[in-house]
Order: sequence, then C-alpha cells, then structure tokens
Amino acid sequence: MTISTTTATSDNNFDYIIIGAGLAGLSLAVSLLKNKITGRKRILLLEKSQQQYQGRTWCFWENGADWWDSLVSKTWSIATFYEGTRQLAKELAPMKYKMVHSDDYRRYVFNILRKQQNIHLLSRDVVDCKDLGTTVAVHTEEGLFFAPLVFDSRFQLAELERHKGHILYQQFIGWFIKSEEPIFDPQKACLMDFRATQDTHVSFCYVLPKTAHEALVEFTIFSKQIYSDQYLQALLTTYIDEHIDTFSFNVLGKETGVIPMTDYAFGSPSNRIIPIGTAGGCSKPSSGYTFTFVQQHVKHIVQQLAQDRLPLPFHKLQAKRFLFYDRVMLRILKEFPEKGASLFFSMFHRNNANSMFKFLANQSTLWQEINIFRKLPVLFFLRMAWREIVRDK
Ligand SMILES: Cc1cc2nc3c(=O)[nH]c(=O)nc-3n(C[C@H](O)[C@H](O)[C@H](O)COP(=O)(O)OP(=O)(O)OC[C@H]3O[C@@H](n4cnc5c(N)ncnc54)[C@H](O)[C@@H]3O)c2cc1C
Repeated sequence: MTISTTTATSDNNFDYIIIGAGLAGLSLAVSLLKNKITGRKRILLLEKSQQQYQGRTWCFWENGADWWDSLVSKTWSIATFYEGTRQLAKELAPMKYKMVHSDDYRRYVFNILRKQQNIHLLSRDVVDCKDLGTTVAVHTEEGLFFAPLVFDSRFQLAELERHKGHILYQQFIGWFIKSEEPIFDPQKACLMDFRATQDTHVSFCYVLPKTAHEALVEFTIFSKQIYSDQYLQALLTTYIDEHIDTFSFNVLGKETGVIPMTDYAFGSPSNRIIPIGTAGGCSKPSSGYTFTFVQQHVKHIVQQLAQDRLPLPFHKLQAKRFLFYDRVMLRILKEFPEKGASLFFSMFHRNNANSMFKFLANQSTLWQEINIFRKLPVLFFLRMAWREIVRDK
C-alpha cells in the first residue's frame, strides 16, 4: 500500500517540505497543523517507503499527558531492574513509563493529515536536497519540489564512518510473545535486565508486559560493531529460555533495528535544511531514547516558525553539559563495557526514578546531577571526564 494521497501537484512549491514519515516527520507534520499560523501553510510530506507501517514501539516516560496520550497502548507505574543477583523495583510516580506503537501513531497522524487541503502526502524517494539561496530544491526520482525550509529525517549509518569521536551502535531485536501461562505482571515494566553476559558489549533485555500472557521481550546491545540478526536472535532466545518462565509461547510480531549512540555533530551546512529525528541528533547518545527529544525539537520548530524565525538544530537547544555527560558515558561504555551493567543498575538503585528520568531527558538541574554523580564511583568518572576534556585540547 502506498501513502500517496495526491498523484502529483501542478505547483511544486511549498512552504515547508518534510522528508520521512517516521517518528520525527509525523510529529512535525501534525504539530505544524495544530498551530494556527503554521497550520495554514502549504506542506509536503515525502516518504520513500511503500510499506505503510514500520512496526516499531516507542517507549518514553512522562508526567502528565500530551496529544499522543490517546495512542498510548500501555503504561507502567513500576519499573524493575536486574543485574547479577541484584534486583530492584522502583515506583515511578509522578512519572509513568508509556508505550506507543508506530503503526497507531502513523495511522492517527495520517487520518488528520488526509483531511487537510494544505497537506500533500507523496510516496517518493528523496535523492538529494540543494539550498539554492532563497529556496531548497528537493530531488526525487520522479521530480523536483521546492520550499524555503526543508525538514529532513533521512539518516544513513554510513554518515558516521569518518567521525573521529565516539560511536556505538544500539541494536534491538524484540519479540511480542504470547505465553500459555499467565507469567507476566502487567503493572511492572522491566526496563533493564543485565543478567546476560557483558564481556564485549553492554547487553540487556527489557520486558514490557501488556497482559499477564503477553509482553514485548527485547534484547538490546550497545556495541562497536553491528551484529547479524541471527546472532541477536540467539541472544534473545537464550534470554527467554533462561529468564522467562514459560513452557510454550507464540511469537506474535517482531521488531529490529539499529540506531547510533554518538557524539557526532548532526547538522546541515544549510540553515534552510533542518535535520530532524535521529538524523537531527535527537537520539540521546548514551541511551538511545529519542521520542521525548523529537517532541522537544518539534515544539521548538513550530514556535519559531509561528514567529517567523528560523528553527535551531536540536543540539543548540540542549545545555552543553549534557553532551559532555553523554561523551563520558559513551567512553565508559566503549572502553569498559563490563562496567555498564553495574553503573546503570546503581544509578537507578541509588536515586529516585523522578530525578533519574529528568537527568536522562536532559531536564535535571545541576544540583540534581551532582547528587546523582556523587553516588557513583567518583574517581573513575573523574578520570573518564578528564580524558574527555583532554581529547578536546
Ligand atoms: C527497534 C527500535 C526500537 C526503538 N524503541 C525506542 C523507544 O522505545 N523509545 C525511544 O525513545 N526511541 C526508540 N527507538 C529510537 C527512535 O525512536 C526510532 O528509531 C525512531 O523511529 C526515530 O525516528 P526518526 O523519525 O528519526 O526516524 P524513522 O522513524 O526511521 O523515520 C525516518 C523515515 O524517513 C523515511 N526515509 C528515509 N530515507 C528517505 C528518502 N530518501 N526519501 C523519503 N523518505 C525517506 C523512512 O522510510 C522513514 O519512514 C527505537 C528504534 C528502533 C530501531
């Protein structure tokens, strides 16, 4: 099924062009529409994939609710963590951990977009974007489109090949499983189970139960290389054999993917072409969480456009110290992967969930951060921080 709702536009000039109907492109399109100034603009959304849906889940934490709340398929108020023989259950209040399915997100946003005359959805593979001075030319295999501002969510891992700083790959393989026995506690989300071996890379599983019988069980690794799906599948099945207490289960669906964990300076040489989503640096370098950062960037973009101002790239919205913390953490995860499990576990163990979630969302105060750091192996962190400082010189 294609996403095209128009076969062609006689006028190929738009106010904004959005490339990619994934998390960032959809969030931006719907948020532009919700604003009374940007909602009147002529907008083109280009998506290359002929497949209607990505089949991904996006999880995030939130205190309160926003427009996507009706799309949340499950929330949890308790999070659990495992490391070696240690285990921890943490009350998340006032936060909640939430899950949105990308299919529901896309369906909901498309239903809104399709009703608007000023939004054009086209199924096109974008080949290139060129800033021509007062407008940007977007080349697709079937023609050219123009807009003074383009929001681009295309991302290729190859873009990072020449990056001299830190790069790890966060790889996921998740199965939505249904067990015959009622084995899950739907109130509790297991966010990190580090009981798998941690020799060459940090690896953990998360288990997000929908009901007592159904859960998303997802194996995740942070590593310097990209592993095959077969390798990841073997890790996932071993985890299920060892830690999920079921005689038999069915796999209802799967999700896989790779995202970068890097201090690469995502950006664009043109301030008329604004990278968004993972391509815009919205995937947090030390955790991979993206949903909340995409929404932060989208809010900024809409506010700026409504005031006729150029939006900033995502990294300019973040206090610089958060990138520094991410770099220190990336260095540790890269050079001492065997320490990752105990560090993540200890951070959640020794701090309340609210301050941890604020910290992970780059929304903590300096005082909250000091409180988190002083409970960690301080000398080790200072040594790693020093090496980051020296690297800059
Ligand atoms: C399996 C998996 C699970 C994840 N889970 C979470 C999670 O729980 N929480 C969280 O915060 N983050 C999560 N992430 C990270 C992140 O939220 C997602 O990767 C998210 O989809 C990134 O959004 P995006 O818009 O940048 O990219 P995408 O959602 O990948 O969207 C990019 C879109 O651009 C289109 N496109 C690409 N090239 C072109 C082209 N040339 N022309 C036109 N269109 C093009 C693609 O087809 C795609 O639809 C997960 C990632 C993966 C892979």
